[in-house]
Amino acid sequence: MKFILSLLTLTISCAISALEPVDLEPVDLEPVSIIYMIGDGMGPAYTSAYRYYIDNPNTEVIEQTIFDELLVGMASTYPRDNTLVTDSAAAATALATGYKTNNGIVGLGPDLTPLLTLLERAKELGYNTGLVVTSQVNHATPASFIAHIDSRNKYNEIADQYLDHRIASRLKIDLMLGGGLMYFQRKDRNLLAEFDELGYQIITDYRKLVSLKTLPVIGLFAPKGMQHAIDSDDKIRLATMTNKALSLLDEKPFFLLVEGSQIDWCGHSNDIACAMAEVHDFAEALKVAKQYVEQHPNTLLVATADHSTGGLSLGSNGKYLWQASIVREIHASAKSLTKTLLASPNTWQNIWLRETKISLSPKSQEDFQTAIDAWDAILKTEGKNNLIEKKVSAIQQIVIKLINQHSHTGWTSNGHTADDVQIFSMGRSRELFFGSMDNTDIAKKIFTILE
Ligand SMILES: [Zn+2]
Repeated sequence: MKFILSLLTLTISCAISALEPVDLEPVDLEPVSIIYMIGDGMGPAYTSAYRYYIDNPNTEVIEQTIFDELLVGMASTYPRDNTLVTDSAAAATALATGYKTNNGIVGLGPDLTPLLTLLERAKELGYNTGLVVTSQVNHATPASFIAHIDSRNKYNEIADQYLDHRIASRLKIDLMLGGGLMYFQRKDRNLLAEFDELGYQIITDYRKLVSLKTLPVIGLFAPKGMQHAIDSDDKIRLATMTNKALSLLDEKPFFLLVEGSQIDWCGHSNDIACAMAEVHDFAEALKVAKQYVEQHPNTLLVATADHSTGGLSLGSNGKYLWQASIVREIHASAKSLTKTLLASPNTWQNIWLRETKISLSPKSQEDFQTAIDAWDAILKTEGKNNLIEKKVSAIQQIVIKLINQHSHTGWTSNGHTADDVQIFSMGRSRELFFGSMDNTDIAKKIFTILE
């Protein structure tokens, strides 16, 4: 594959680095390892919410979080087209290559020219490369670092490219942890068998994570995305996988992408408790990375978001109040809570109270019961299986609305928004990321380190 624009990238990178102030610190000539973290959908309202959510209510002070500690700048996220609101493919392509593209496109310019990615550049330099996500490993964000395709929805083709596209006849990726088994073990092609033949250690059981001892490795732990953090046995599965990845990659310089993939998914559902659990997992992964950088100073850690999701606001409907304490008490996603409630149609009020600690007004209880009865009546007459899904999703909407009302959490959308996102950094060359920039600048600056 020709990377027509790669030379241009390097030229721009050189021009940028020529303008930088001279670094008076002793120069370490060893190649710099890079930990690049993306909180999908994690706009600034999410990290503010997390500060109040994680706060110890028994102390007067609201303690700072890892995000407060590492904050260095802000980035705009608009895509190449004129929508201003990016999707994850265009945003991740910008963050991976330094070039804007249109929504939906992965690793290609708007004219479908392939763009060199940071991960590919790292591999050209002989680095170890890894990606750790909680979505399928071939979802838009990770895909934009490895694949080059006109649509993020071509999941099978993206998975094929992970194996078929090589750099100097070597595979691009040495470590992949996340979900996506159904795309790698298909009727028409068993990519896992092919990876196995090439010497990869492959696991599909999350509990076997500890058994991974040397690169190259692949761990795919779900058919598509992994379970939400809030519903998982390991509530910090991203942090656990990041820790494992760092221990395997660090035998030589490495490039590791870590994505908190499902902050965005909970945001699309407007499910605040689900989102906070995902941000918590991302924060714990960030702490793992921070600890690694403290022990290995020749490492750059950069974290950001690709965009914000849902138009989250802390406070709603004119009320001067956000009830973090209510969100803190909820330990299941709205979907899983809905299924638990519907499994006990006669005692759902008790279960609701036990699971949310929110006491509902008689009117809310009556409305909830009426909605369940109405769906049961429809199911009785129509009796179709696909309506059960619809019932769950309709009742889930009521559950979400009640939690948002009581916690005074506002949302403006089920999609993305164009707010700027934060940049967090520490370690080697962190000063490159100070201040306001565009999302493409983040990639361009990291390219200057991969020279
Ligand atoms: Zn999204």
